[in-house]
Amino acid sequence: MADKPDVKATLNLPRTAFAMKASLAQKEPEAVKTWEAGRLYEKILEKRAAARRTPFILHDGPPYANGHLHMGTALNKVLKDFIVKSRSMLGYYAPYIPGWDCHGLPIEIHVDRQLGGKKKDMPVMAVREACREYAEKFIDIQRNEFKRLGVLGAWETPYLTMHPAYEAKVLEYLAAFFEHGEVYKGKRPVHWCIHDRTALAEAEIEYKDKMSPSIYVRFPVLSDLGAKFPVLRGRRAYVVIWTTTPWTLPANMAIAFHPESEYAAAEIEGDVYIMAKRLLPVVAEELGWPAPKVLATFPGRELEGFKARHPFIDRESLFVLADYVTLEDGTGAVHTAPGHGHDDYLTGIAYGLDIYTPVDDDGRFTPDVPGYAGLQVFEANARITADMKRDGTLLKESAIAHSYPHCWRCKNPVIFRATEQWFISMDKDGLRAKAREAIDRVCWIPEWGKDRIDGMVAGRPDWCISRQRSWGVPIPAFKCQACGTPLADAGICRHVAAIFATEGSNAWFLRDAASLVPPGASCAACGGKDFEKEYNILDVWFESGSSQNVLERDLGHSWPSDVYIEGHDQHRGWFQSSLLIGVGAKGGSPFRTCITHGFILDEQGRAMSKSMGNTIDPGEVIKRSGAEIVRLWAAMLNYKEDARFGPEIEQRLVEAYRKIRNTWRFLLGNVSDFAPDRDTVDEAGLLDLDRWILHRFEEVRARVIKSYADYEFHPIIHDILDFFTVDLSAFYLDVVKDRAYCSAADAPARRSAQTAMFTILRDSLLLMAPILSFTADEAWAHVPDFEGKDPSVHLDEFPAASDWLKSAPAGFVADMERLLGVREKVLKELEKARESKLIGNSLEARVTLRAPAADAAFLEARRSDLSALFIVSQVEIEPGAGPELAVEISQAPGAKCERCWNYSTHVGTSPDRPTFCARCEEAVKAPRP
Ligand SMILES: [Zn+2]
Ligand SMILES: [Zn+2]
Ligand SMILES: [Zn+2]
Repeated sequence: MADKPDVKATLNLPRTAFAMKASLAQKEPEAVKTWEAGRLYEKILEKRAAARRTPFILHDGPPYANGHLHMGTALNKVLKDFIVKSRSMLGYYAPYIPGWDCHGLPIEIHVDRQLGGKKKDMPVMAVREACREYAEKFIDIQRNEFKRLGVLGAWETPYLTMHPAYEAKVLEYLAAFFEHGEVYKGKRPVHWCIHDRTALAEAEIEYKDKMSPSIYVRFPVLSDLGAKFPVLRGRRAYVVIWTTTPWTLPANMAIAFHPESEYAAAEIEGDVYIMAKRLLPVVAEELGWPAPKVLATFPGRELEGFKARHPFIDRESLFVLADYVTLEDGTGAVHTAPGHGHDDYLTGIAYGLDIYTPVDDDGRFTPDVPGYAGLQVFEANARITADMKRDGTLLKESAIAHSYPHCWRCKNPVIFRATEQWFISMDKDGLRAKAREAIDRVCWIPEWGKDRIDGMVAGRPDWCISRQRSWGVPIPAFKCQACGTPLADAGICRHVAAIFATEGSNAWFLRDAASLVPPGASCAACGGKDFEKEYNILDVWFESGSSQNVLERDLGHSWPSDVYIEGHDQHRGWFQSSLLIGVGAKGGSPFRTCITHGFILDEQGRAMSKSMGNTIDPGEVIKRSGAEIVRLWAAMLNYKEDARFGPEIEQRLVEAYRKIRNTWRFLLGNVSDFAPDRDTVDEAGLLDLDRWILHRFEEVRARVIKSYADYEFHPIIHDILDFFTVDLSAFYLDVVKDRAYCSAADAPARRSAQTAMFTILRDSLLLMAPILSFTADEAWAHVPDFEGKDPSVHLDEFPAASDWLKSAPAGFVADMERLLGVREKVLKELEKARESKLIGNSLEARVTLRAPAADAAFLEARRSDLSALFIVSQVEIEPGAGPELAVEISQAPGAKCERCWNYSTHVGTSPDRPTFCARCEEAVKAPRP
């Protein structure tokens, strides 16, 4: 269009101050400041409260307050922000109180390292103070990083698990478990990190491959087998076991057999060896036994009650039965150390065996173990093996790589070790059954989450809730000074909770026992009145799982929440502990819907890890491309699966972002002189094409809103991008350009196009605001004012459709599709004409439609739209010869209008405007509004 400046000035060219270049890295921090200074989050809530909107509560799973954000925490927070903002725009009162998990081992370990040797001599309060400072430092860092991502929330009043009010609620929840008789103290094997000297929860364990010894050991049978199996009378017999933990042999108390499996007594070099019959050939080959001769076979249950002698300790080992014995590997005769294994423990309890654990907190053998006392268990493996080799009890030694539990923090292999701990029983008061019922009622997204967590709850052991560390909420338990009987119950929990509510959990360390026990407390066993404090803290998962107290405290009785959303590892962690506490203390699940998202992989699909060197720092992405790119990424991936990120993906996101931004910019440019309250064209006055694009957009609007309601974000971006690319850029905006630029500013045809463009602009900004929060708000400021326009896009709600838009009349859609079919044909012919150099620009063309009678009438009725639709200068409709519409392209007669570049025979005929076409001549005469 017009080249000359004075002619150009007569066109309505797009005008907007909304920059093409996004400069996100510079602009976003400014936006964050503006939102904060303008109390945007509070204002949104005030507006919804004033409209008496139904509350919608997403309860934040607290990230751990150490370290900077990584892509996983960024994804999690951004998904939460999508949910909160979209619910708000769906018309809910949707507060978001972020929280932090402040206590626990990771921070204590960091502080240990910082303090080094000093820590040993420091009072516990000083260590706790150092831990608090460390947590506070990272809360500040993470808070700023989350804000920088554009996440809105109560950032200045978050919940912290180390707040006194929070700590008090944790103990109140614990009191409920005491009340139901579910809390007990017991000696039971738990995962134990010898490096960190503490028990670990299931959720604190990582499985990694580890090399272990693989040994076959024989136990000489003490009992006279001949009494039951005459063929074995007077024979020297052994049972062969296989183990990968030689260090647990000193704690061997039994050998377990499967009651129903068939066992064989086989003769090898004159002696008798007992093992599972099916495994005999495998073991024989492994041990290099030549042709074992089977003397007798019998089911495992026949062996119950016999005894063997321990291979190197003067002790008996009882033959017991257990259903968990498998014939997958080993010998079918299972070495059983009740102090060092969960199954072993249950068997030990069933047979009344000692839960013997001769290993101390550091993983060293106690003086109880002759020959190995003081030796660390993993180091002891080689010694024990060598000793057994020397005395002939070791039949074979090799090494095996297998999946082995490791500490989530220090990454060292852990051991199973029975210690005195506090437990919550899963079954005494039906906690397990009630939790499974609650799981059944929750909506799990994706659906497989339900079976996963149900399986975990069904199979989990009792909850070990005590830890031997300092940085946490102490378990309010005492011991009678006179007789050592423990004193702990619901009343004491509540009494201490009241103290914590004002003084915080430091009170446990600052006050003496007498000032912590309720007045008049006495020992149940001896009536003693003097107590000493125990120094166990609660499992941090109990603490973070208690975060539902925020729903009661800060959100006015909004328990249960509407939704929890975290990574899928939390089925084992926070979801489960929250659920168990909800069921135990409040009678049900604290969430109605539970959503899980995947982990972050690199572009090759490998897990991101520091050791692989393939981690991506979201801070770097933000600096380079903007937080908006991280948000767009979070929206475009299917979060239910693991998500990839890398430089190529980032580049694609930047391109998708540009597409969206430029479309908004184009629309903004074209409505700069459009005053919505004055210029909007009503349904009856809209041109068909404008009405059609609004109908197309209405389908998108309805789908997007449904996607938000269903927590589906990637279809939203695809819908919007598709509409912007295919419907707008490649078609509609191209076709209406001529009308928008060249008509008189106030021409009804132009206002009609502007009505469509304005509606699409305003509504697409609203629809995208939860995702592209920065850009939508930036563009919103450039949208022409209209009655009721909110100062920020985030204050508004999603657009509702005008009734007439909800369904297009059937004939209208069919007609438009027929017309677009004709356009397709014409575009093909235009392309051919360009290739043969008949024309250059499509405006140089005249299109002649040779139409059969039925088409002719249809096209004739729409004649005025056709040249714009084809973007040509002239269209002729002539009767066709055949049954099909034929398209003919020729050079348009006349000359090129200087203003609009259409060809017209009018050019050169007007004395006033000899270089203009008739339409342009009219247009420049019209007064500008
Ligand atoms: Zn550890
Ligand atoms: Zn006592
Ligand atoms: Zn013109």
